[in-house]
Amino acid sequence: MTTSALRHVKPAVRALRAYTLAARRAAVKINQNENPYDLPLELKRRVIEEALARPWSRYPDFDPRELLEALARFARWRADGILAGNGSNELIEALLMVTVGAGTTVVIPEPTFSLYALLTEVLGGRAARVPLAADLEYDVGALIQAQREHHASVVIVCSPNNPTGGVLSPDEVKRLCRDSDALVVVDEAYHEFAGQSVVPLLHDHPNLIVLRTFSKAMAMAGLRVGYLLASPELVSEINKARLPYNLNFFSQAAALAVLSDPAPIDAAVARLVRAREGLFAALSAVSGVRPYRSHANFILFALDGRTAPDVFREMYEAGVLVRDVSSAAGLSACLRVTVGTDEENAAFLAALRRAMGTREKERN
Ligand code: PMP
Repeated sequence: MTTSALRHVKPAVRALRAYTLAARRAAVKINQNENPYDLPLELKRRVIEEALARPWSRYPDFDPRELLEALARFARWRADGILAGNGSNELIEALLMVTVGAGTTVVIPEPTFSLYALLTEVLGGRAARVPLAADLEYDVGALIQAQREHHASVVIVCSPNNPTGGVLSPDEVKRLCRDSDALVVVDEAYHEFAGQSVVPLLHDHPNLIVLRTFSKAMAMAGLRVGYLLASPELVSEINKARLPYNLNFFSQAAALAVLSDPAPIDAAVARLVRAREGLFAALSAVSGVRPYRSHANFILFALDGRTAPDVFREMYEAGVLVRDVSSAAGLSACLRVTVGTDEENAAFLAALRRAMGTREKERN
């Protein structure tokens, strides 16, 4: 019975594995690239007061006009070229819905955030995967070549890339926009930690789309807000796939509150960037561990001498939860750690040293 009902599901979808994350808890939870520094209590109270003062029985505005205008000022791009979504995931989906169908190819680097390929294939398109270079950095020439070879409609890059931490420079993105006959999507979920953005390129490149989120640096993963920036013409088309009232009034109010005073976020980002550099140096000193340079709030590291799943499990049993990324292409020896508070980073390093047999590298 169940089997015959399932035959109505698209075969391409049946063949896919869902995007999931095991529901694990840990004293030190550094597996989802969240900001460990929560928003100020005072700000949270203000948002709750605002929510109490309005009728919950009424829909939010059809277009979150006030939020779009605040985002326009914050990101320095026009309000009619911005879409807000229930997390940036929703906007990745909307943009792929209006571009991808049977016969469409999307160029996607590998490894990267797995949702791009998953949604492409759910929608009936094909993902042309382009491996990163040997050092896990981007190879912009290979992306352009793949776009041409497959006549791809869309090229998606994540910069800084999850889970490797590498970036495409604005000049490389310019080249990608200019030399490929496709929409170029740059997912800037972690841009605050890199201190660079390609939003200024929107003025000269009508095929560029930028995605951003409030889930990482902006410390609002629990409230689900993301936004997309592109030409007003593209935004009007992508908007056709957006569900009505996709962004609830509570999350809109919280996003507006954060935008009205970004100082605490800036301070947290500065702290996390410093901690990332300290963590990189400490990881480099652990025997059997090789960290990759990161421009985000996480670090990918390769292990030598012990398997990644074994080290993951041992650290988890010791109360430290990182991300096991060893099933991703080319990352069989790797784990990913999110930069946490100083205490979390110290607990992580202690657990890793223990799992790797404690020895520090000779320093002479
Ligand atoms: N893009 C990238 C690269 C991510 O790593 C994530 C979350 N892990 C997202 C988008 C999703 O963000 P959101 O919470 O805004 O849906």
